[in-house]
Amino acid sequence: MSSAVDTLMNEIIKKNPNQPEFLQAVQEVLEDISPIIKSDIKYKDANLIERIVEPERVFIFRVPWLDDNGKLNVNRGYRVQFNSALGPYKGGLRFHPTVNLSVLKFLGFEQIFKNALTGLPIGGGKGGSDFDPRGKSNNEVMSFCQSFMIELSKYIGYSTDVPAGDIGVGSREIGFLFGQYKRLKNVFDGTLTGKKINWGGSQARTEATGYGTVYFAEHMLNTRGESIKNKNVVISGSGNVAQYACKKVIELGGKVVTLSDSSGYIYDQNGIDLEKLDFILQLKNVRRGRIKEYADKFNCSFHEEKPWKVPCDVALPCATQNEINQSDAEQLVKNGCFCVSEGANMPCDADAISTFKMAKILHAPGKASNAGGVATSGLEMSQNSLRLSWSFDEVDIKLQNIMKNIHTTCVEYGKEKDYINYFKGANISSFIKVADGMLDQGSV
Ligand code: NDP
Repeated sequence: MSSAVDTLMNEIIKKNPNQPEFLQAVQEVLEDISPIIKSDIKYKDANLIERIVEPERVFIFRVPWLDDNGKLNVNRGYRVQFNSALGPYKGGLRFHPTVNLSVLKFLGFEQIFKNALTGLPIGGGKGGSDFDPRGKSNNEVMSFCQSFMIELSKYIGYSTDVPAGDIGVGSREIGFLFGQYKRLKNVFDGTLTGKKINWGGSQARTEATGYGTVYFAEHMLNTRGESIKNKNVVISGSGNVAQYACKKVIELGGKVVTLSDSSGYIYDQNGIDLEKLDFILQLKNVRRGRIKEYADKFNCSFHEEKPWKVPCDVALPCATQNEINQSDAEQLVKNGCFCVSEGANMPCDADAISTFKMAKILHAPGKASNAGGVATSGLEMSQNSLRLSWSFDEVDIKLQNIMKNIHTTCVEYGKEKDYINYFKGANISSFIKVADGMLDQGSV
């Protein structure tokens, strides 16, 4: 980085102590955009970086809720309204014990640039709680969601801030949150996305993040005359993103050999087919069980570690942040992996990113490759405003076009002599869009 940007980063570090995930996300963007900041004085004069790293607003609130034994529990709720230069704040809610301000600021910061890449008029935000839905009854999850929404409802609205799901927040949680929002506000509108199709949700929203991640991988592979067909694919996670990434790989003729959860991964040498994937959907979305059951049922192996040692052509990290470190990245490259499309947000730490860059493999940042989820949430907002519903194919075609456009933009801004730097392409193009919007709107 240039010394001016180094100085800036030191200031940001000083201002945000104990926020390692947030600082990691900022550093990753600043490294790529530092030549732009240096060469274009208008950004420097307007203190653009100092402003863009500061959320417009952060809410932190108490969430008391009763469990099935009548005991009162207390969790912490958050909403980070990071940047509204391009439209209402938009970004998911995460319910997981690891949620804290640093994690949500990193996710909110990434969301600004991801949303800009979609080409839709949406700003960046993120929220959630350290509440863990795992092991809780439906009643307990509902009790928590209702209490969470009593506070959150004061800050959101379809022209202000439109939350969606993320880790631990699927259609069940969105249902409870939406029901309570409607009851408190007496409106039925598009303030939350990820709704079920029969009450305002969009076709293909459930599939969108996973499908989009694979569409993006396919575009990257095409730049080398390759495709997903007949490729061995390693996927981490077994939640929403992993499930539909798996489905799209199968449909495109690839072979998925792993899925995982926080206990470990299953390795199915024969490949996961659509029937076996149905078992996963039942296991994870209905029975809410552990991935090991798959190994017992289909007679394959289960390993209490991450799946990155398994040889593959393509890796799709779809679980959580920093799930690939340097030694995982080295192992992947050594075993022949040459394409990594990030379904999760920031799944690779800084050393893993450098390792992939040195090896010149195809590597897309989540803000580009997993943008299909929020893009389809944007399409859900459009349908809600129009009071119309588009068919699955209509939405899927729009999603495919959006992913293609994001890929084209990344190539345009990230092309180097003999390599496409997708991180640079995504960071520079989205930064310019957001920064110019901020300049146009004055010192707000
Ligand atoms: P889900 O809650 O549906 O699934 C998360 C999966 O990741 C589960 O298999 C979970 O296992 C696993 N996981 C979570 N934390 C860890 C951990 N610390 N170590 C290992 N495994 C872990 O979430 P999603 O599929 O929705 O989200 C996955 C990723 O994709 C996240 O990074 C999210 O931010 C990102 N994303 C999601 C979008 C969406 O539309 N849903 C949009 C864009 C990005 P377990 O059940 O054991 O916890």
